[in-house]
Amino acid sequence: MGQHVIAKCECGYEEGFMIGCGMSNCGTMFSFPCLCRDCKRIVDGNLEEQPLTCPECEGNNLEAYDDAELSTGRDGGAVTEWDDRKLTDDPHYCPLCDTFRLRFENTFFMWD
Ligand SMILES: [Zn+2]
Ligand SMILES: [Zn+2]
Repeated sequence: MGQHVIAKCECGYEEGFMIGCGMSNCGTMFSFPCLCRDCKRIVDGNLEEQPLTCPECEGNNLEAYDDAELSTGRDGGAVTEWDDRKLTDDPHYCPLCDTFRLRFENTFFMWD
């Protein structure tokens, strides 16, 4: 079962994302928030797919949000953890305002 997180930034940006996979698609899908550098927005990437492909523009200019480049540190607690994938509560990069003020929150809403 997957998890649901909300990305929130001080600029007003707020969007929900799924992490993990559902009962029917485990093994072929692993949903994780990714930055699309072409769309300049956060999209649901499928980490089982290499190279990562943006569902919006179908480009490959994607970075998963557990990449060290997209947060100011990796010392914070885990907002959510799945296998070796981890989102911390450190400030992350917001593509809307181009600063590191975005944070992920776990809604503890499960999906399948
Ligand atoms: Zn894109
Ligand atoms: Zn922002």
